[in-house]
Amino acid sequence: MLKRVLIANRGEIALRIIRACRDLGIETVCVYSKADAAAPYLKFADATVCIGNPPATESYLDISRIIAAAEITGADAIHPGYGFLAENSHFAEVCRDCKIEFIGPSPEAMALLGDKVSCKKMARKARVPTFPGSDDAIEDPEEAAKVAEKIGYPVIVKAAAGGGGRGMRIVKSRDDLESAIDSAAQEAAAAFGNGAVYIEKFLEAARHVEVQVLGDKHGNAIHLYERDCSIQRRHQKLIEEAPAPVVDPKKRDDVCKSAAKLIKNAEYAGAATVEFLLDDQQNFYMLEVNTRVQVEHPVTEMITGVDIVKQQLLIAAGEELAYRQRDIKPRGHAFECRINAEDPARNFAPSPGPVDVFEAPGGLGVRMDTHCVPGYRVPSNYDSMIGKLIVHAETREDAMMRMHRALSELRIEPIKTTASLQMELMKNESFMQGGVDIHFLERLLASE
Ligand code: ADP
Repeated sequence: MLKRVLIANRGEIALRIIRACRDLGIETVCVYSKADAAAPYLKFADATVCIGNPPATESYLDISRIIAAAEITGADAIHPGYGFLAENSHFAEVCRDCKIEFIGPSPEAMALLGDKVSCKKMARKARVPTFPGSDDAIEDPEEAAKVAEKIGYPVIVKAAAGGGGRGMRIVKSRDDLESAIDSAAQEAAAAFGNGAVYIEKFLEAARHVEVQVLGDKHGNAIHLYERDCSIQRRHQKLIEEAPAPVVDPKKRDDVCKSAAKLIKNAEYAGAATVEFLLDDQQNFYMLEVNTRVQVEHPVTEMITGVDIVKQQLLIAAGEELAYRQRDIKPRGHAFECRINAEDPARNFAPSPGPVDVFEAPGGLGVRMDTHCVPGYRVPSNYDSMIGKLIVHAETREDAMMRMHRALSELRIEPIKTTASLQMELMKNESFMQGGVDIHFLERLLASE
C-alpha cells in the first residue's frame, strides 16, 4: 500500500485527494505556491512544502521542484490531479526514474492515448466509434483534399497533440483547406512542439457525452457509464450530469463497453475518460481520451457509489480492481455545477478577491466539493473554479429541483460567481427537456 502521497495540485482537487488518502489511512504532502500559502486545505496535510512563486510555471508546473519536495518529505507517490502536469508523459517518466509512483497511467499508455492520431487507431481496433476522416497525420494536401471530398465539407483540421482547443480549424470548402492545414500545423508546432495535424468530419450540432473508465495493472478494465457535459461556454463545461439524458440504451451499452476495451488494449492503469460527440441520430464519435481524473468525476461517483480517486490510489498501489462490470449498477440522476469566480453579467470577467461570506448548501443528496471557507481570498493567478456543487436524486427532474434549491442556499459574497446563471438554467425549458447541444448555452447568452 502507499504510505505517503504528494499532491501536485491546488484548490478543490487537492482537498478531494487529501480526503481520499485520509479515508485510506495514507499520509499526504501538499505542495503550494506563495499565492496559496493561506489555503485552508493545507491544514489537513501531514506535511506541506512551498514550491515557489504564484505563476504556475514557477511552482505547480515546475517538475524539479515537485520532485525535490517529494524526495525531501519521503513521499512514495505523486497524485497530479487534473490540469498542470496531469497529462504530461515526461513528468510521469521523471517520476518513474526517481522511483516515485505516478498516480496515473504509464508514460507509454499516456503518450499512446494522448496523441490523437495513435489514439484513433487504437480506438478503431477496439470498435470505439470514431469520426470519418484521415487515418494518419496529413503529409500531402492533395491527399487531404481527397479525404475531405469523400467525407464531405465541413471538415475540421485538428492537431494530433492538441489540447485546450488549440490547433483546430473548421473548413467549409476546398478553397480554404490548404491554408487551414498550414495555419493549424504552425499553431500546433508552436504550442505543442509537434505540428502533426489530421482531418475529420465536422459536426454542426452535437452533444458532449463521455465515458468514465478504470483499468488496473493486471489487465482488468471496467466502465462507470457516461456523463453528459453539453452545457459549455467557450469549450469550458459549466454543468455536467449523469447519466446522459435521451440516449439509446443499446448504443450506450456498446459505447461504454468499447471504451473499456480501448483502455484494456492500451494496458492502461488508472482512471480515464473517453470523450464523444453524439449527433441527433444517436451516433457517437470519439473526440479524445483524457488520461486523468476529470473535474466532473463526482456525478459518476454519485450514481455508481464508486469513489474514483480512491480507486486511482488503489490501482497505483498495484491492487486488482475491486469491481467487476456486473457490480456497477447506476442509480438515480446527478448534476454538477462548476462554481466559478466569474461575473456572468460582465461577460464572465474573472472575479477574484476576498470571500467575506461563504455558506454552502446541505441536506439529502447535496455535496459541495470546495476549498473555499469564509475569509478565503480567491487568487487571480489560476483557474477561476472555486468549487463544485453536486446533487443526486432518484430522477432527473428531482435532481434539477434539488440543484435549484441547493444553489438558492449557496451564498458567496462579495465576489461574483456563475451560480446565478446555473440557477436560471435549472429552470430552463429546453434544458429541462434534455438533449440540448454544445452550442445551446452560447445561443442563450447571445439572445439575452
Ligand atoms: P482539445 O483537446 O483541444 O480540447 P477536442 O478534440 O476535445 O480538443 O475538441 C475540443 C472541442 O472542439 C470539442 O469539445 C468540440 O466542441 C469541438 N470539436 C472537436 N472536433 C469536432 C468535430 N469533429 N466536430 C465538431 N466539433 C468538434
